[in-house]
Amino acid sequence: MIHKNDIEQFRNYLSDASNYSGFAESIYFPENENELRTLLRKLSGEKILITVSGGGTGLHGGRVPEGGIIVSLEKLNRVIELNREKCFLRVEPGMILRDLQIYVQSHDLFYPPDPTEWNCFIGGTAATNASGARTFKYGATRDYILGLRIILPDGDLIEIERGKYFANTLEASVQTESGRKINFKIPSYKMPETKNASGYFCRPDMDLIDLFIGSEGTLGIITELKLKLIPLPKNVLSCIAFFKDSEDAYNFIEEARNISKINSSAKISSDTQLTARALEFFDEYSLEFLSPDYPNIPADSKAAVWFEQDYDAETDTVINNWISLLEKYNCKEDSVWLAFDKKEEDKFHVFRHAIALKVNEYMSAHNLKKVGTDVSVPENVFREFNSWMKQKVSSAGLKYVLYGHFGNCHPHLNMLPENEAEYETAKKVYMEICSRAVLLKGTVSAEHGIGKLKQEYLLMMYGEDSIKQMAKLKHAFDPDGVLNAGNIFNKKYLERN
Ligand SMILES: Cc1cc2nc3c(=O)[nH]c(=O)nc-3n(C[C@H](O)[C@H](O)[C@H](O)COP(=O)(O)OP(=O)(O)OC[C@H]3O[C@@H](n4cnc5c(N)ncnc54)[C@H](O)[C@@H]3O)c2cc1C
Repeated sequence: MIHKNDIEQFRNYLSDASNYSGFAESIYFPENENELRTLLRKLSGEKILITVSGGGTGLHGGRVPEGGIIVSLEKLNRVIELNREKCFLRVEPGMILRDLQIYVQSHDLFYPPDPTEWNCFIGGTAATNASGARTFKYGATRDYILGLRIILPDGDLIEIERGKYFANTLEASVQTESGRKINFKIPSYKMPETKNASGYFCRPDMDLIDLFIGSEGTLGIITELKLKLIPLPKNVLSCIAFFKDSEDAYNFIEEARNISKINSSAKISSDTQLTARALEFFDEYSLEFLSPDYPNIPADSKAAVWFEQDYDAETDTVINNWISLLEKYNCKEDSVWLAFDKKEEDKFHVFRHAIALKVNEYMSAHNLKKVGTDVSVPENVFREFNSWMKQKVSSAGLKYVLYGHFGNCHPHLNMLPENEAEYETAKKVYMEICSRAVLLKGTVSAEHGIGKLKQEYLLMMYGEDSIKQMAKLKHAFDPDGVLNAGNIFNKKYLERN
């Protein structure tokens, strides 16, 4: 196994896309699960901090070490089994999501989760329960995980399949490969009904596999995933529509969301009726931010919506239905970009990705950490919340861009402070936005997770008693509190008297 202890050889692993950086003594690159287990057994009891590194595209400092060692999973990147009849894929955690998508599509199969950034590892997406644009129709990563192999900090193994092990109300236990029974209590907080990636997934009688998905590597290291696949849709309609009035764009999204939900739940065929799989919004400042790279954005645009629908029919009914809806909200054909093949569809994906990337570049250039919301609120309060949020940021004198997964009522409002003083103001406004989202029965993180940068917001969301319950749960799997310590909650909750 490769082991590097010259920091110059692993500096890239000391940060992630949040621009937060840390320190570590060395980094290990296990080439298979056995090597990883041997390493962990050797370290067991020494109380050395262990930080797991995926693709490093996380936005909350989760893979950023704060001492100890790093374990990179990039060499565990093999396909183990593709079962076309039963539509599943078994894969190692270091496989890059882009490679995975291409691989399954070459077999006429489809893996729906799509967290915008395709350079992430599949293991990282499971650890954060990543979602993204297609979550509107297909749900988050959690909905596609059928099984996991998880290595505990002492090298022991838990193998868990969906539908096999459940909590008894809030009491639970799992058996490890060595025969040890781990008993633990599921924390008792109530999760919001919105899209959510804040803290452990906890529910009475829950399927225990869900505890590990989104646990940000604090309970164990995922070394194998069994993923659910679906048949590859024959056609994808992908479209970016530019509006001259942002109210028209909001109204368009609302109607498209309502119709899509009704059609989906009534199981009406997407071959003829409007059923979006993605509904994404860009405000005028986002379009201004993108315009140097995209000079063809119509000059008088005040907002844009990127939507996608997949379908199997060979007719134009779906396209015509969408065009009618766009016209209803004053969006003319000359303000619409339509993708007619996979290459063009990918270009729209790049357009969506570019705005997130440009914000990260802006923050890096100003040597500041990202202050972008990941909140989500219930549908009935979304519009009012969105207006309130924009007003709040503007009246604090801060520039921003607003875009995101509006189908899921999940806005990414990214503040663009120009200096330290503005950054401090932005952080205060950020806390106010999170507090209001929680007050409205929403969440502080709908998809990125908590990592090391959002602990205070999780504390505000669930309260200290819930955080202590989470820490107790972690202790059951990681008694020394060494694995990804500092993710989800502050390390002080892991200290034992
Ligand atoms: C431009 C851009 C756009 C993005 N858009 C989205 C989006 O739309 N939706 C979304 O959900 N996310 C988005 N992200 C965030 C990011 O891509 C996801 O969080 C992704 O899931 C992280 O995967 P990774 O492999 O890069 O993980 P890393 O950043 O390396 O790690 C993330 C966390 O997972 C842990 N981890 C990684 N692998 C394992 C493992 N095998 N076992 C246990 N723990 C592990 C790490 O320790 C860390 O805590 C975006 C990021 C960027 C840069």
